[in-house]
Amino acid sequence: MNLEKIMNDLEKKHPGELEYLQAVREVLETLEDVVEQNPQFEANGIIERIIEPDRVLTFKVPWVDDDGKVHVNLGYRVQFNNAIGPYKGGLRFHPSVNLSILKFLGFEQIFKNSLTTLPMGGGKGGSDFDPKGKSDSEIMRFCQAFMLELWRLIGPETDVPAGDIGVGGKEIGFMYGMYKKLAREHVGVLTGKGLNWGGSLIRPEATGFGAVYFAQEMLGTKNTDFEGKIVAVSGFGNVAWGAISKITELGGKVVTISGPDGYIYDPEGISGEKIQYLLELRASNQDIVKPYSYEFPGAQFHAGKHPWEVKCDVAMPCATQNELGKEDAENLVKNGVMCVAEGANMPSTPEAVDTFKKHKILFGPGKAVNAGGVATSGLEMTQNSMKIAWSREEVDARLHEIMKNIHAACVAHGTQEDGYIDYVKGANVAGFLKVANAMMDQGVV
Ligand code: NDP
Repeated sequence: MNLEKIMNDLEKKHPGELEYLQAVREVLETLEDVVEQNPQFEANGIIERIIEPDRVLTFKVPWVDDDGKVHVNLGYRVQFNNAIGPYKGGLRFHPSVNLSILKFLGFEQIFKNSLTTLPMGGGKGGSDFDPKGKSDSEIMRFCQAFMLELWRLIGPETDVPAGDIGVGGKEIGFMYGMYKKLAREHVGVLTGKGLNWGGSLIRPEATGFGAVYFAQEMLGTKNTDFEGKIVAVSGFGNVAWGAISKITELGGKVVTISGPDGYIYDPEGISGEKIQYLLELRASNQDIVKPYSYEFPGAQFHAGKHPWEVKCDVAMPCATQNELGKEDAENLVKNGVMCVAEGANMPSTPEAVDTFKKHKILFGPGKAVNAGGVATSGLEMTQNSMKIAWSREEVDARLHEIMKNIHAACVAHGTQEDGYIDYVKGANVAGFLKVANAMMDQGVV
């Protein structure tokens, strides 16, 4: 099958959708062997069908701010593929949101969800609404207006959104309240819900915890672990928080966090009360990490920079896409990094990934490393369907087991002749095969 031609055709069809095209290219580049070994995929147009979303829905979201001024944002839901289960994927509220970013995230989600072994298809959605600096009342009115359109498109057996950048427990609560009122039913239509009304223990920290469990398995292939390791983390949101907490628990020392304004380097390590302070900073809806350096005088603030220039053993980008470029990767390699595990979705550029692979650095792609978030969302859906609530230990044990299994699948499909584990290939092939075979079974639809 000519994957290059398929890619070129896609580029012609969707010019300018850079993140989406980047994500598709990255997957197709790793599927050559699989499609060669499975000619039925070509005969049934599996690749052409899997790279286009089933449907893309866009809508206008008008809302009124605290001063009575009317604003209009754009809302989206990309329902990408439901071969193995209902569409599932988060909602992102950030001014950078556009169709290309949501299509890239929805496409990645297909393979990520497949890797979890739970029955979930791929989707993504969101809005260019910026929650930063907005009052809680404004956020509530926006979420209600957003759900006024979204509710007809989703359902517990159809499409189950969750959080992502800019969408945490508060926003999920406001959206769920509106869904419940419109649909007149109390069902598991969103995940990341509050504990008192259908949420799962561990869900808020699951993506970060899962990412660290995965990185721990990666380190295990080199007979080592987090104990005594210096770790650079970017972001200071939901994923970064969970990762920092778990790394600290496992004996590692996290020395950086970052925001769009720059990064903090704290050589004494970010743990305990400092993590608590971070949570307060996040809750303030502000766009900055700088205040951390006033609060904890040993820490330094580096304006406008990414943390990849510091010396570390493990790097975990947990903020956003394409935040780690070729030069950053070269710096990390020069400074002796042994493992890079992506907590965010596609934070490393293709050139950065090539650099890590060239130097045989352990490199775990987001779709495998951060799958613990959606896996725990899947566990939340199961608990909702069964109308039960598992204990913290039970959810954590299941999450840990899922991450170990995802790692094993990457090793099984990604180990090269020289023993190097190509986690990118491993994750793509393992995730793809399950969905492709399901599509084969279900005919051309
Ligand atoms: P949050 O909104 O909680 O945090 C995002 C963090 O990244 C914040 O520190 C934010 O800073 C920073 N950030 C956002 N946009 C930019 C930007 N353009 N430039 C620099 N920094 C930026 O989001 P999450 O922690 O939930 O998500 C982080 C990443 O993890 C995303 O890639 C997301 O898709 C991925 N992910 C999240 C999952 C989840 O369960 N939440 C599951 C799987 C993946 P600031 O707030 O100051 O803008």
